[in-house]
Amino acid sequence: MQLTYRFRLKDKHDAELRRQACAVNFVWNFCGETQRSALRWRKQWPSGYDLNRLTAGSSKELNLHAHTIQQVCQTFARSQDTKRKPMLRWRGKRSLGWVPFNKGHVRFDGEALVFRGVRYFAWLHRDLTNGQTFGAGSFSQDARGRWYINLPVEVEFLDNAHGDAIGIDLGLKDLATISTGEKIEAPRWYRRQQEQLAVAQRAHKKKRVKAIHARIANQRRDHLHKLSTRLVRSHGAIFVGNVNAAGLVRTKMAKSVLDAGWATFRKNLEYKAIRHQVLFDVVNEAFSTQTCSCCGAIPASSPKGRADLGMRRWRCCECGAEHDRDVNAARNIAARGLASLAGGAHA
Ligand SMILES: [Zn+2]
Repeated sequence: MQLTYRFRLKDKHDAELRRQACAVNFVWNFCGETQRSALRWRKQWPSGYDLNRLTAGSSKELNLHAHTIQQVCQTFARSQDTKRKPMLRWRGKRSLGWVPFNKGHVRFDGEALVFRGVRYFAWLHRDLTNGQTFGAGSFSQDARGRWYINLPVEVEFLDNAHGDAIGIDLGLKDLATISTGEKIEAPRWYRRQQEQLAVAQRAHKKKRVKAIHARIANQRRDHLHKLSTRLVRSHGAIFVGNVNAAGLVRTKMAKSVLDAGWATFRKNLEYKAIRHQVLFDVVNEAFSTQTCSCCGAIPASSPKGRADLGMRRWRCCECGAEHDRDVNAARNIAARGLASLAGGAHA
């Protein structure tokens, strides 16, 4: 299966990558112009093939890899197709830098990543083998102007001996609760950064707001990566609830932040589960909080709706079991996942 490794590049490459990104924008905008004139003269929209032919031979003048130009043209045509828009956005000074490259054109020489004879140094947090080449990827810039290299890598399936099935309840107070009883708290830095963000926003410090946003996104990504890796390494089947933030929180902002976090986490779990050959599924978590995981009843004493959001512990009045609210929900999610597997096997 294919994964994309993303490495942060050292800042000394900034000037060279900026230059290439500028040339890429030029090609992109040329494609836009071609499209514009096709519209004006009511001609057929140019395809990736047409654009490639029109830009052929410009590699030397632009000082770009010929395949980079081709990738830009193809990406242009493809996004026009998928977005069904007559005109795509102009790429200018404010666009985040992007330089695509083709399969096999970036190579690792034991120390640096080589593209067009230039050695790019990065913080390598994953092992690469000397002489390794990569699929079609890109150099890209984040909101703070830092450069990254995105390298598609073929990785082998890992087959590790597995533990049991777990269910995960995603939440507000704790980031996630596992059916084993483990609770994963939202990291401590989160609140501190939210405060910093509020201060910077009130002071209208645009650059600082951007920087804090980027840092929060990075750290959240990192945190969720570590957590999902640990989970797929130690369990045989993982089920997670299909929770979304609607109905849980009031503000739009909080909603989108939570939804994005949960979606990323599920996505991480999914592809890591495939790689580690762990079963993974998203299950409908309706009533998982209300239902008793011991006897399966929905007792009168269980927490219900928004009014009981603060009820952290409860006791089932049917069977007498004591529950932690979130652990109980996680257990129900695990049970539901396993039941749907059994159902699938029969079908
Ligand atoms: Zn019960």
